Amino acid sequence: MDPAGTSAHGTPLGEDDWRALLERALEAPVRVRYGRARHQVVRVQRHRGTYLVSLARFFSDAPPPVRQALATWMRSGRRARKACATLDAWVDERVRALAHEKPASVRLEPRGAHHDLAALAQGVIAHHFAQDEVRAWPPVGWGRKSGSRSRRSLRLGSFDPVDRVVRLHPALDSADVPTWFVRYVLFHELLHSVLDRPERSKGRRVIHGPEFVARERAYPDFERAIAWEREHVLGLIRAARAGKPFALPHRHAKHAPKHSTHHPTGERTVQGLLF
Ligand SMILES: [Zn+2]
Repeated sequence: MDPAGTSAHGTPLGEDDWRALLERALEAPVRVRYGRARHQVVRVQRHRGTYLVSLARFFSDAPPPVRQALATWMRSGRRARKACATLDAWVDERVRALAHEKPASVRLEPRGAHHDLAALAQGVIAHHFAQDEVRAWPPVGWGRKSGSRSRRSLRLGSFDPVDRVVRLHPALDSADVPTWFVRYVLFHELLHSVLDRPERSKGRRVIHGPEFVARERAYPDFERAIAWEREHVLGLIRAARAGKPFALPHRHAKHAPKHSTHHPTGERTVQGLLF
């Protein structure tokens, strides 16, 4: 049964097919055009009773449940939770799939004052991802220097699944940050890129799933990297907020209380530093 569509599943939907099926579902005049905008996938405006709909071109492949979900969402907005979820999951999957098909469009600077991320990433890939079949590794580079707004959290690294780039926080570009720690952050983010294949995600975003956790635990420096991060989390946050590279505390601070596992910031933050 195909409650929302006239085209057989598998036939691309044209703008007129969408118009017909949305008009039937909404019982109102609709105009549909395929747009080009990548960052605005669906746009709906209402003008004198007519729905003006702009859809990303990949909506021509929308399966019947997604067609239905779009109509339901247009009628009821965010109240239509199930339709929203269906639509979000499908759009997310399609955007990721498209990102995999095209080369990276973002230029990043891998060379820092102390750590060359491209060179480090090459080593990490050779040693820890040898058995993974990866067509093109995401470029790696330093994120922009800017004081972090947040007092409590910090992203030391991130993998952007849409642009397919790995960024490291510039606070890490310091002689006081051990190279093996920078390598670990790269490993974590590259692992995201490896496990982010759309065919595995089934439209659901799984950030640190069981496979991710298992592989991360198996990384030789995992324990000491987590320990280093925990010990220096406050210094890292301070550096990021100041927009400066991390610096080890001066010697006279040696007698300051160590961050224990029940430190109010430490414990909560540690797993939040990587994304
Ligand atoms: Zn992560």
